[in-house]
Amino acid sequence: KNCRIPFVVANWKINKLKGQVFDYLEKVNQQVPDSSVVETGIAAQDIFLADMVRETENSPIHVVAENVHWQDAGAYTGETSPRALADLGVTYVLIGHFERRKFFNETDATVNLKVMAALRNGLKPIVDIDEDMSVYTQSMEAQPAVAQVAAALAGVSVDQIRNVTIAYEPTWAIGSGEAASAQQAQKAAQLIRQTLAQLYSPSIAEKIRILYGGSVDINNAAQIMGQADIDGVLVGRAALDPEQFLSLVAIAQ
Ligand code: PEP
Repeated sequence: KNCRIPFVVANWKINKLKGQVFDYLEKVNQQVPDSSVVETGIAAQDIFLADMVRETENSPIHVVAENVHWQDAGAYTGETSPRALADLGVTYVLIGHFERRKFFNETDATVNLKVMAALRNGLKPIVDIDEDMSVYTQSMEAQPAVAQVAAALAGVSVDQIRNVTIAYEPTWAIGSGEAASAQQAQKAAQLIRQTLAQLYSPSIAEKIRILYGGSVDINNAAQIMGQADIDGVLVGRAALDPEQFLSLVAIAQ
């Protein structure tokens, strides 16, 4: 774990108004540690990203997009270009979030296209896996290759994979108030790391960060982040509050 820097990402979804964005950033900007200690990111709607890049210019906080299109440019009204996000100074992008898969029909195929588009443009993808691994049985674990991981990363090279973060977010835990137990989260993260080892190599798999997401709060974060294969958290509701976000970052340290 020592080669992987912890990563705490807030996902605001569509819950903030302009004034709240500025207030929040003012509260957290100078309070987060340097990225060499804990990386921090905030995912927000596209309409706020330019302001956020400017407001975090002197802060270690990374600006994260919540989605991206798979074409760099062209006639795709209403979509957001990965090239434009990178040009704006956005660092990371969430790809394949459970809500995108559920409400906007994202599939493993479009998730893969978006991962490739992000990497091609120098954006770092945070790839969401919502497969319910709590149902995996011992015999299935003998041949893991977690399907969503393999599908999302098809065509991602050994050079590119270092820029990918995986977020394991079981559907039943997101926004439900019922987080996975630390043991369940660890078991899933371990299966994902085994899959990465199969797809790349064990030493590469050791370097890739795996986050857990799903009803993380200041009461369960320490146990979850204490697990051997969990390198951070992706947090919706609890991270809407700047104080709680800072507490989660402190726990990650
Ligand atoms: C999320 O949307 O990524 C998430 C984990 O939400 P919550 O923390 O509210 O469950």
